[in-house]
Amino acid sequence: MTASPIPERFKRHALQPEEAQRRLLARVGRLPAETVALSQAWRRRLAEPIAAPHPFPPFRRSGMDGYALRAEDVRAASAGSPVTLEVLETLPGGTAPTRPLGPGQASRIMTGGMLPEGADAVVMLEMTDAMERGGKPFVKINKSVPPGENMAGIGSEIREGELLLEAGRLVGPGEAAVLAACGYAQVSVFRKPKVAVLSTGSELLEPSEPLAPGKIRNSNAPMLEALIREAGAEPVLLGKVPDDADEAEALILRGLEAADLMVTTGGVSVGDYDILVDILARWDGETLFNKIAMRPGSPTTAAVRGGRLLLALSGNPGACFVGFHLFALPALRAMQGVRDPLPFRFPARLAVPFPKVNAFRRYVRARSEIRPDGTVWVAPTGEDQSSLMTTIVDADCLIEIPPLKEGYSAGQPVMAVRLGERS
Ligand code: AMP
Ligand code: MG
Repeated sequence: MTASPIPERFKRHALQPEEAQRRLLARVGRLPAETVALSQAWRRRLAEPIAAPHPFPPFRRSGMDGYALRAEDVRAASAGSPVTLEVLETLPGGTAPTRPLGPGQASRIMTGGMLPEGADAVVMLEMTDAMERGGKPFVKINKSVPPGENMAGIGSEIREGELLLEAGRLVGPGEAAVLAACGYAQVSVFRKPKVAVLSTGSELLEPSEPLAPGKIRNSNAPMLEALIREAGAEPVLLGKVPDDADEAEALILRGLEAADLMVTTGGVSVGDYDILVDILARWDGETLFNKIAMRPGSPTTAAVRGGRLLLALSGNPGACFVGFHLFALPALRAMQGVRDPLPFRFPARLAVPFPKVNAFRRYVRARSEIRPDGTVWVAPTGEDQSSLMTTIVDADCLIEIPPLKEGYSAGQPVMAVRLGERS
């Protein structure tokens, strides 16, 4: 009697998550750049490094309302023996001084005003008393100030030519301010990656449909749509297909044409209706991996066809969420010029025991907390099962639990992956 052959779908070789990430990223290229108005650049990634075209501040700027003066003139000034200076002019913000200061002279100046030549400090208004002498304005200075006080020199914040922002940088509020100050009304950013999303499963309903026996609503597609937008990419929603390999394949091919990354959910496991497995068995492209030594999402699969990427995520919502973060997000970051696109990991301590044991590394949906003593603690948001989606709601990180013979007790140092986009 001969043993029946083991079906292909069971003969998968599990890669470590890092190796799977490496294989995927090796196939990802940067997208072309496009120019957008600064107001449209928020949450986009810079395609070129930004250098300062001029120093900032571009002129010697007052940091106070008060009087611009020569520090040496008021060296001996105090409340008991003020020094009186002649006032030459008033310098509100936006005006250039017309009169350089000589010995014994000052100019009234506002915050942001340009210091006149000869001035090397500003004394705040509260330390002065305005007066008139012979019909001309004078001021009593009640305090000495060192040179450089209450003023910012040319280029004191940004030197001319200084590299301010690297290519690949996410444009947020700070970047927008720096770009505007340097005159970048137009910004070169990477084109948004297009990500096609296809949900497979004959059990799936639209969110608008009423429940029917054996059916559930498609929750992965809206979750992925949100994740894709959060990653600065553009979703191309292909809807859902029943578990029919031909129908799904046609849509996958369409998605690969239309998008920079094609993401499917469901059908990658070893079940009879796991159609992605059938599609990839007759694929005229390359399979990068079809099993990863991790939980959840061990059947996560990636393939290439015509230079386009297919990432087939498990249909279980928890696995789909974890798989997107570990594989899709780094790919989308790399397409947008991020030099180190892998997820950010941080050390933390386990707030509760983790008794579950497993042969594969686990990525446990969790929440982090900084305690008053400054230490970072992480706790699972619920039962660690790939089918659960409510554990995604509160998660801000994934705890990495290595393969264990025994569980972890509370207090155990662990590494965690931060969720969400970062600069
Ligand atoms: P699969 O990966 O196709 O074997 O699906 C695993 C589990 O995830 C099953 O219980 C599916 O019903 C469920 N599932 C698959 N796709 C989705 C989806 N788009 N939204 C919610 N649950 C899903
Ligand atoms: Mg399925």
